[in-house]
Amino acid sequence: DAPRPASEALLERRQQNFARPQKNYYAAPPQIERGWREHMFDITGRSYLDMVNNVTIVGHGHPRLARAVSRQWSLLNTNSRFHYAGVAEFSERLTALAPEGLDTVFLVNSGSEANDLALRLAWAYTGAKNMLCLLEGYHGWTVASDAVSTSVADNPRALETRPDWVHPIASPNTYRGEFRGADATAAYVETAHRALDKLEERNEQLAGIICESVYGNAGGIPLPSGYLEKVYAMVRARGGVCIADEVQVGYGRLGHHFWGFDQQNVVPDIITVAKGMGNGHPLGAVITRRDIAEAFEKEGYFFSSAGGSPVSCAVGMAVLDIMEDEALQENARTVGDYLKERLESLGEQFPLIGAVHGMGLYLGVEFVRDRETLAPATAETAAICRRLLDLGVIMQPTGDHLNVLKIKPPLCLTKDSADFFAEMLGKALAEGW
Ligand code: PMP
Repeated sequence: DAPRPASEALLERRQQNFARPQKNYYAAPPQIERGWREHMFDITGRSYLDMVNNVTIVGHGHPRLARAVSRQWSLLNTNSRFHYAGVAEFSERLTALAPEGLDTVFLVNSGSEANDLALRLAWAYTGAKNMLCLLEGYHGWTVASDAVSTSVADNPRALETRPDWVHPIASPNTYRGEFRGADATAAYVETAHRALDKLEERNEQLAGIICESVYGNAGGIPLPSGYLEKVYAMVRARGGVCIADEVQVGYGRLGHHFWGFDQQNVVPDIITVAKGMGNGHPLGAVITRRDIAEAFEKEGYFFSSAGGSPVSCAVGMAVLDIMEDEALQENARTVGDYLKERLESLGEQFPLIGAVHGMGLYLGVEFVRDRETLAPATAETAAICRRLLDLGVIMQPTGDHLNVLKIKPPLCLTKDSADFFAEMLGKALAEGW
């Protein structure tokens, strides 16, 4: 018998003591031991193009980030009750990136924590509990952020198990949703209207709405044009606040915009951000107005031991410096637009490609068995992802039907790497499944 690869033995050990509900990619994953830019290397030295990593925005193994972390660890790391420069400096930089009026920052350790805190702020500020959210959304694993998560890909029982303060409204998915096409806005806005009327009939107060400003989980589909403008206005008219979850789509990834909500011409009351802002280091933030932040005092003080620690602030500022100096948002725009064109031309060749969604380096290739019925090609998507791994590309499906390739690589992706991805995808499609 051939000797068993070391990565298989390690997988067995992982399954012994690491809780099973924590899924990993692939049934037989390569064991990754290092990364460089948009590439990963396994223990046999094989390289993979990482097209799925929405966390590592400045790339893997960035020496400047490593130096900044190492320097700060040697100088000081402590809990955030102490007075040190990082908190003030990083908060200044974050508010400078936010729209005017959003001048107050809470620093936490993840997207789930940021959304949990945002929900608590909305509750404290409005004195109400009811929240609207969108179907097919994901906002985190903590009790409150999970409550507003409705994606059945992440939790098959999500829709039966939401608490009664959660009011999911239709997915404004202009490709396969209840209403389709560019003029679907009014129909989707109407579904939000109906949900708000229902609350009013029952004499229930509204705390607000939480949603992504680009439909991330469904595969990077932009919200219908003008949708958030109308929905935010309705929510505010009923006393609620508007939370934009920018954890996945914000922070430069869209290339054309720094924040997802810029594309919808709205200004939220609360922004949540995480993932890329720490390039994989646990770092998240809530950016809001001072009056909303101060409402939290009704509940006592806010304290997160490691949230905004000196090391976390050093990481956050190094990521912003690298993004600026290496013009990574600009790269997301140019390489992203180029890649989208290449994927669209694959769409002309292969009928399995129903649509190419998204912008910048947040793209989704949606596979369908029939372009009329839009029957999702779920098994084909899984097979293509497996084949891409053989071809040296890390790629995974997303969406409620798991039929969309989620393309969200490090923002330093080169044009050559974009070409390699398009070529390998074309090869996998040509071979069949
Ligand atoms: N919001 C969105 C839109 C996300 O995609 C995620 C993570 N997939 C989260 C929140 C939760 O972030 P974290 O995993 O950092 O807790």
